[in-house]
Amino acid sequence: MDDFFAADFERVVAPEETSLDEGIEISLRPKTLSEYIGQEKVKDNLKVYMDAALGREESLDHVLIYGPPGLGKTTLAGIIANEMKGQFRVTSGPAIEKPGDLAALLTNLNDGDVLFIDEIHRLPRTVEEILYPALEDYAIDIIIGKGPSARSLRLDLKHFTLVGATTRAGQLSAPLRDRFGVILRLETYSPKELSRIVTRSSGILGIDITSQGAIELASRSRGTPRIANRLLKRARDFAQVSGDGEITDDIAKQALDRMEIDELGLDMIDRLLLKAMVENYNGGPVGLETIAAAIGEESITIEDVYEPYLMQIGFLSRTPRGRKVTPAGYRHLGLNYPDLEDSEQISLSCDD
Ligand code: ADP
Repeated sequence: MDDFFAADFERVVAPEETSLDEGIEISLRPKTLSEYIGQEKVKDNLKVYMDAALGREESLDHVLIYGPPGLGKTTLAGIIANEMKGQFRVTSGPAIEKPGDLAALLTNLNDGDVLFIDEIHRLPRTVEEILYPALEDYAIDIIIGKGPSARSLRLDLKHFTLVGATTRAGQLSAPLRDRFGVILRLETYSPKELSRIVTRSSGILGIDITSQGAIELASRSRGTPRIANRLLKRARDFAQVSGDGEITDDIAKQALDRMEIDELGLDMIDRLLLKAMVENYNGGPVGLETIAAAIGEESITIEDVYEPYLMQIGFLSRTPRGRKVTPAGYRHLGLNYPDLEDSEQISLSCDD
């Protein structure tokens, strides 16, 4: 383990798109709202807005979708385009470097088209400013020429719909956020919903799976469809080599154990991170940089990729002095929570 670097490890449970997803994501993406599993509240509201816009023969109001990676933001944007019968154009915040890049995209849109900007919080400010009149008045102002002879020209745009996606709604500037008429928040999926997603994906990929096998994969997928689909693909290999091709309960368990993914969906690095905090720093509080150095990963990756799930399941807490492993985190590692903390807690509860 001495020369193990977390940064060099390809994570099966990473929520972002990785090379492990190549070739399967597109075929598995639902195309209609009725194929999109879960997120019932979001679907119900969206259906009303889309039906109303279609009834009025107008384009749909601009939509902001936010939530962690892998929950179906891009998929939902594609569904909106499909249901509204517009073309689907995809780009991302960091890909649009100059105002001219965005102007070129906008002037090529037709009525009812959907422009999807992933990671919209990462749009450069100068580009973002072009978007304001585009969203509000369907027009952009472009500057022609330079110096004293420069003049501004207003170009009208077609009535498109912008769908912005972000994992960090808090980082969106207020003027941009205010220009979205519809704001949708995606939640992590329940194991039951994920097992429906796994079963649907198996059908498309022609994989045999039992309902128990699907539940096993679903319950270790961290509430994230992208991870569920990836585990399915991996389990298929095990079923082919160690079984008769069908993913049963047993085969799924075997595959997940071999990938070192435990019953809560934690992988080796999650456990390594918790263990490093417990063994080297008494469970914290410990600073992000220190944890990063201890496991050989960048601090931003820990913050964006590892921490959110560990916090969500209550294994890690954030305090003003740094991160701490919680009693539940200790229990998961099979360790006792330190006595000192126990007695502190008891005396605190006595004081109450
Ligand atoms: P995001 O844009 O939020 O990172 P994606 O839309 O790319 O996530 O979804 C990742 C994968 O998960 C897609 O390939 C899609 O097949 C699957 N997926 C996401 N949401 C759903 C859903 N509600 N029903 C079925 N499959 C889904």
